[in-house]
Amino acid sequence: MSGNEIKYINEAFDDNWVVPLGPNVNGFELDLETYLNHSTEPAPQMHKHVVALSAGTAAIHLGLVQLGVGRGDEVICQSFTFSASANPILYQGATPVFVDSEPDTWNMSPELLEQAIIDRKRVTGRYPKAIIIVHLYGMPAMMDELMSIADKYGIPVLEDAAEALGSRYGGQCCGTFGHYGALSFNGNKMITTSGGGALVVPGEKEKNEVMFYATQSREPFPYYQHEKVGYNYRMSNICAGIGRGQMTILEEHIAHHRHVHALYAEAFADMEGIELFSNPSDKWDSNYWLCNIVIDKEVTGFDYEELRQALDHAGIESRPLWKPMHLQPVFSNCPAYTNGVSESLFAKGLCLPAGPWVSDNDIARIIQHIKDAYRR
Ligand SMILES: *Cc1c(COP(=O)(O)O)cnc(C)c1O
Repeated sequence: MSGNEIKYINEAFDDNWVVPLGPNVNGFELDLETYLNHSTEPAPQMHKHVVALSAGTAAIHLGLVQLGVGRGDEVICQSFTFSASANPILYQGATPVFVDSEPDTWNMSPELLEQAIIDRKRVTGRYPKAIIIVHLYGMPAMMDELMSIADKYGIPVLEDAAEALGSRYGGQCCGTFGHYGALSFNGNKMITTSGGGALVVPGEKEKNEVMFYATQSREPFPYYQHEKVGYNYRMSNICAGIGRGQMTILEEHIAHHRHVHALYAEAFADMEGIELFSNPSDKWDSNYWLCNIVIDKEVTGFDYEELRQALDHAGIESRPLWKPMHLQPVFSNCPAYTNGVSESLFAKGLCLPAGPWVSDNDIARIIQHIKDAYRR
C-alpha cells in the first residue's frame, strides 16, 4: 500500500458512494487509460478505453461475450497459463483449443497457432471464434507474429494481461494489442484492489456495452427491462479507491520487481545448470512479475522439487511453474496442439520470491541456500 488508498476510501464513505459505481471507479479507469495509452517510441500512442470490473476472470468472460463466443464455438487459448484464462470459454458453452508455447517467451508459439487454426478449419469446417494470448509471468508474447497470423485469418485476439500490467513490447503496453485485453488486481498481482480486474476495450461504444453487461444488462426503461443475459461484474467504488492509491506506486512496484530480477541475474550468471527467465531482446520489457528459473538436473544434481523442499526447510516459499492446461483433468477432452515446451518447463521450473517485500538481504539468503543445494 502507498498510504493514498485510505484517502480515496474515506472520500467514498464521506460522499456515501459505497456502491459498484462512483468517482473512484471513473478515476481509476481514467488512471489506467492514461497509463496504458502512453507508448514510448517507436510504438504509436493508443486510444483504448478501460472498464473496471470485479475480477480479471470477469474481464476475460466479458471479452468473450463481446466477441460473440457462444455454444458450439471453439476458442484458441494458450496452454501454459493459469486456469482463469480458459474457464470463461466453458462459461460460454464454447470449447477451448489449447496451443503450446515457444521457448523464448514461454507464451503462445506463432508456428503452432497457425497449425491449429488450419487444422480446426479442416476438422470442424469453421475457424475458431477468438484467440486468447497470455503474457505469462509478465513476459510479453511474440505479438508481431501472433497478431499478423490472427489478422491473416480474421480472428479477433483477447489478451490476458493479468500478470503483465506495465510490461511493454516495442514500447507498447501489454493489454493494448488485441481487440480486448484483460487485467487483474487480485492480491498477488502487480497492484491490487483486494480483488478486481479491468477490460481494455477499443472505444467508447464497446465501453458502454461492457458496462451494460457488467451491471445486469438493464435496458433504459423506468422499470427493470432485460433483453440480454446480464452479469454482476462491476468494480465497487471502495475497491476502485484502493486502485487509485495503488496507481501512485505502480512504477515503484515494477522498478522493485526489475531490481529483484537483476539481483537474481547477477547471482545466476555463474551458477551452472540454472537459467533465469529473462527478456529475449531489447524489444521486450517484462515487468518481471515473478522471477523464474529452469533447472538442468544433469548439471545441478537437484531438480525443482528437491530445491523447493530445501528452500521450504529454510522458511523460503517457492512454487512450481503453472501446470499446462492440456494436462489438467478439467480440460482433458479439449483439443490441444503441443510441442513439449510447456511440459518441459513444468518439469524443470521454479518461481522464486519476488514480491514488494523481498529485500536485497532476502535475495542474498535465497541465493546462499541454492548454492548450498549444489554442495549436497
Ligand atoms: C490472476 C490471473 C487471472 C485471473 O484474474 P483474477 O483477478 O484472479 O480473476 C487470469 N489469467 C492469469 C494469467 C492470471 O494470472
